[in-house]
Amino acid sequence: MKKDYYEILGVKKDASIDEIKKAYRKKAHAHHPDKGGGPEEEAKFKEANEAYQILSDPEKRQAYDQFGHQDPSGGFNYQQYQQQAGQGFGGVDFDFGDLGGMGDIFETFFGGGGRRRTKRGNDLETVVTIDFKEAVFGTEKKIQLDKKFDCDKCGGSGAEKGTEMKECGVCKGRGKIQTTRRTILGTFAQESICETCEGTGKLPKTPCSKCKGKGVVKESQEVKVKIPAGVDDGQTIRLNGFGEAMKGGQTGDLYVHIRIKPHEKIKREGYNLSNTAVISFAEAAIGTVIEVPTIDGNVKLKIPAGTQSEKVFKLSGRGVTHLGGSGRGDHLVTIKVRVPEKLTKRQKELLEEFANEEGKEKPKFWPF
Ligand SMILES: [Zn+2]
Ligand SMILES: [Zn+2]
Repeated sequence: MKKDYYEILGVKKDASIDEIKKAYRKKAHAHHPDKGGGPEEEAKFKEANEAYQILSDPEKRQAYDQFGHQDPSGGFNYQQYQQQAGQGFGGVDFDFGDLGGMGDIFETFFGGGGRRRTKRGNDLETVVTIDFKEAVFGTEKKIQLDKKFDCDKCGGSGAEKGTEMKECGVCKGRGKIQTTRRTILGTFAQESICETCEGTGKLPKTPCSKCKGKGVVKESQEVKVKIPAGVDDGQTIRLNGFGEAMKGGQTGDLYVHIRIKPHEKIKREGYNLSNTAVISFAEAAIGTVIEVPTIDGNVKLKIPAGTQSEKVFKLSGRGVTHLGGSGRGDHLVTIKVRVPEKLTKRQKELLEEFANEEGKEKPKFWPF
């Protein structure tokens, strides 16, 4: 359970921005990590920062007052979705817009202290068009990507094979350099990543001839990506680690925007598939068996005698595979009964006989 932001800062719900600011400064001073109070104090400090981040922003504060901790950024609750979806498609995540929100004020404040943001290669995005059936069952696609890959000659180290590394002269092998930074709370020493060795603390004695010591090379390569079953047109999937590589850092992600080609005979609505079958009124009256084109191939469907137009039949489990889960939706078949517009002489005679047999019925009216 998360603590109430107002409680954390010790202010009333209707506190003015000045009161909030004052309370925050007091808390920040009291629990500042530079005082060496340990993890408990650090947690309190972070808590105060987070509370201030929200309550000092009128828009975020209003959202917090309205929705509480549930959703201060107004975005989709991604983690909750992941839990519900049950995951299970190896390394593939789903993106539903801006998942950012309450960022790492702690990290931006004290670059080097405690945790620090790891270096990351660029994220990339691409559009992939897949067939209708591939979306239903999932597929693997080869995508040509023009991006920075880990150098295959040196394995990303930047050093020529068989040569040694030396200590980075700029950071003296620490990988970090110290700078001072002025903030509203005073001046603090801040550690940041050494640009020269990119945080590794080491530099190659002989740079790799392929990447010139950069550890990465920009080239066009074909990569195989897994598109999970159940994706829908217009969705975006995030493939972790398929973005650009970075020496001494994490590889970025690849965002794949999915486009799905329509099917000739089948329509999709969420996890259900559907189509319409037109049968003659005689077939509807005496019953028949039709073959329905489904995504699994043709499936026989028994139409019982006396079936009315607009009747919907369900072929269970012939729909789209649930995204990130198990089981499939259904295939729905709507029956349309066709009345013949032209009759042969013989057909007319038969129908007249049929009408006589049925007897004259007055039309019924319904108010729709
Ligand atoms: Zn190399
Ligand atoms: Zn360095």
